[in-house]
Amino acid sequence: MPKRGKILILVSPSGGGKSTMTQRLLNDFEEIRFSVSATTRKPRKGEIDGVHYYFISKDEFRERIKNNEFLEWEEFYNGTFYGTLRSVVENDLNKGYFILLDIDVLGAKNVKEIYGDEALAIFISPPSLDVLKERLKKRGTESDQTMKTRLDRAEKEMAYASQFDTVVVNNDLDTAYSKIKQKVSTFITS
Ligand code: ADP
Ligand code: 5GP
Repeated sequence: MPKRGKILILVSPSGGGKSTMTQRLLNDFEEIRFSVSATTRKPRKGEIDGVHYYFISKDEFRERIKNNEFLEWEEFYNGTFYGTLRSVVENDLNKGYFILLDIDVLGAKNVKEIYGDEALAIFISPPSLDVLKERLKKRGTESDQTMKTRLDRAEKEMAYASQFDTVVVNNDLDTAYSKIKQKVSTFITS
């Protein structure tokens, strides 16, 4: 049996930089695997089922809740569900991998509560809400309505930053990434 792996959680409001940092970490550490969540939202351009998310229907999502298949799940905005699959995380942990979760503030708090010291939760903070708005606009993935919902939510989520193991401000991308990489490296080798 290999030594059990650990959990890495990147947490931030939507647009904070989780996907960007996730890509870099996956490129730099071959022992890290991405935890593919399930969601009922529609795929964005370039997103692949089973790679970025498992894109499933609301009925299937509800069925999986009933079957206790989620470590944690949430309904975000009107009928859009996201959830971390217990089997994905546990299978990889038991194989000795470090499993990386890109989830929101409440989900991260729940996972941290379950796994305690087996998990490192890094809060990625945008330099300001104005910058966050600009980045989301530039990303170009949101309608006016989902943009507003995400920004309203972001304001509340920022208040939780200090409850995580560590906070990294994502101002200059390379600087922020090198801080995250350092923290991840220390955690993995400890
Ligand atoms: P999340 O996964 O948390 O929603 P993303 O990683 O998609 O956030 O980042 C949101 C947008 O901001 C993306 O278009 C990304 O390229 C951009 N971005 C991320 N970090 C920075 C940064 N430090 N400087 C400028 N743009 C950034
Ligand atoms: P997006 O629609 O931009 O991919 O994700 C919206 C938000 O949902 C992001 O903050 C993302 O981290 C979060 N998210 C993605 N997967 C999960 C999950 O499995 N559980 C929870 N709680 N949040 C998730």
